[in-house]
Amino acid sequence: MSPHKINLTWHNDRTPVSTRFGDVYFSPLDGLAETRHVFLAGCQLPDIWQERQNFTIGETGFGTGLNFLAAWDLWQKKQTNTNAWLDYGSVELYPLARSDLARTNGCWPELAPLAAKLYDFYPEPTPGFHRLVFPQDRVRLTLMIGDAAQMLAQWTARVDAWFLDGFSPARNPDMWRPAVMAQLARLSRKGTRLASFTVARAVRDGLAENGFSVQKTKGFAYRTDMIQAVYQPDHAVVTDKKQHNIAIIGGGIAGAAIAHSLQRRGCTVTVFDRLSEPAMAASGNPVAMVMPKLQLGTTPMADFQRAVFRYARQIYAPQGGVLQLAGNAAAATRLEKLVAENLVTDQEAVFLTPDQVNDCAGLRLDKPALWLSQAGWVRPREIVKNLMTGATWSGNWTGNFDILDDYDLVVMAGGLGSLQHPDLAHLPLRYRKGQITYLKPTTKSLQLRCCVTEGRYLLPAIDGAHVLGATFDAENNIDADDDADRRNLAHLATMIPALNIPTFAVLGHRAGMRATTPDHLPFVGRVNEKLAVLTGLGSSGFTTAPLCAEILAAILFDEALPVASSVVARLSPNR
Ligand code: SAM
Repeated sequence: MSPHKINLTWHNDRTPVSTRFGDVYFSPLDGLAETRHVFLAGCQLPDIWQERQNFTIGETGFGTGLNFLAAWDLWQKKQTNTNAWLDYGSVELYPLARSDLARTNGCWPELAPLAAKLYDFYPEPTPGFHRLVFPQDRVRLTLMIGDAAQMLAQWTARVDAWFLDGFSPARNPDMWRPAVMAQLARLSRKGTRLASFTVARAVRDGLAENGFSVQKTKGFAYRTDMIQAVYQPDHAVVTDKKQHNIAIIGGGIAGAAIAHSLQRRGCTVTVFDRLSEPAMAASGNPVAMVMPKLQLGTTPMADFQRAVFRYARQIYAPQGGVLQLAGNAAAATRLEKLVAENLVTDQEAVFLTPDQVNDCAGLRLDKPALWLSQAGWVRPREIVKNLMTGATWSGNWTGNFDILDDYDLVVMAGGLGSLQHPDLAHLPLRYRKGQITYLKPTTKSLQLRCCVTEGRYLLPAIDGAHVLGATFDAENNIDADDDADRRNLAHLATMIPALNIPTFAVLGHRAGMRATTPDHLPFVGRVNEKLAVLTGLGSSGFTTAPLCAEILAAILFDEALPVASSVVARLSPNR
């Protein structure tokens, strides 16, 4: 599935050719040598990244990913600073399938190990921002599927080097139009480099009009010329980042995710919590369900929901899959539309008839549903513990903010506890109590193979119990109670009538307090020089926290952002 049909043929069995544009993706003589000459050497890489801590490359036309792999390869070999990250942001309107990428890049055995890592996470080509992180080599890819001008307009980044790699301007004028040139300038800083294979007059003029000083240099192979350019006007200068000593308040999934993202950027992190151990509050259920909360359309909220789930799957792998049931005709129509609008892939969501649902579940559910094969259950405490590896733990914190004065930055990530910081007391966070009920499996319920949800959810038997959840009560009282179990069971009776509810024995229960926001989006951002916040994750913290943490870290470090600017604005604590 893709936003536009790809029309691809192959030259010499190894060079892809676009029949739409009548042009090759790279030189049939030797694409990798061409990339190294035109783009890497053309932007003076690796020499100029030695002067910098982090480095951001922007590309117009991701194509087969050859330029990306070649840049990653060079970064891995030549970047000796073990704290430095390479950000690579690329736009692509006609994304290739993974199999086409594999066929092309199979031609360069020396890139094979990196190509294999890319294919592991290469997204199904749905429109919007996709963030892929390759932590071993400190490389981040922000793949923006859509038209170049439109996608770059939504990006926040300071690009250090541009690879302009559309098809030839005569055949692909959209890629070189003034709106694209204006975005290149907006995203550049003084000294930003640029390289391209083309020397077309219109391109050189367009770049010059937007502040680039352009020169012709020797092209690759039979091409006499190419261009190299430098962005010259006075512009905000990026300051390279120091190591930071950071205090995080909150030992749940939000605190753990930001601890992970900041440590990846070389920060020293201490996590404070009023409780003695990590993941003892709302993030402490033994198993939890992780699924995308899919929404229709391309609103910032809908884009956010798709992006957070895709990124969470890079951090942990949910098990079992989720059936999102439609309890009535209106719900079924909505779920069908979610699939029909082609913003999610078949791997992410397919619509199933009641018979298909019964086969999938192993139990009669007799309702249509969305099958979310990449969603499922996770073990929250393990995830929190893993993400916090390397951070200093400081439990039994008394709430004394004075002891945080020595830190460069404080990140409030403790759900409703964030309100205790005087600069955050105004945030409109609300309590929502969530109680789960542990059920002893019955012979029938043991047949359930996957997670099932229709508002509340039932997990398959794990470690000898089903988890049935969860209530969502406007109650500021942390004690679990029998009444909430009864309400959970009453919901189960409607959700899966085939289960005989009186045969279930309740083994126990657990309640947690979630912080929710009026518009159901978390608060993620910087509050002032010394304070940042990541809270309001509601009941979907394990889905949203990893990408929210990446967004916050990117804001704090002035990096290329992983989601569109419109999404970042909707998450702002100042919204
Ligand atoms: N850099 C690529 C590589 O390493 O394989 C080759 C890029 S190929 C020469 C040009 C790419 O630009 C194609 O993948 C094409 O689909 C894409 N493209 C063309 N028009 C576009 C537009 N308006 N917006 C975004 N991408 C576009």
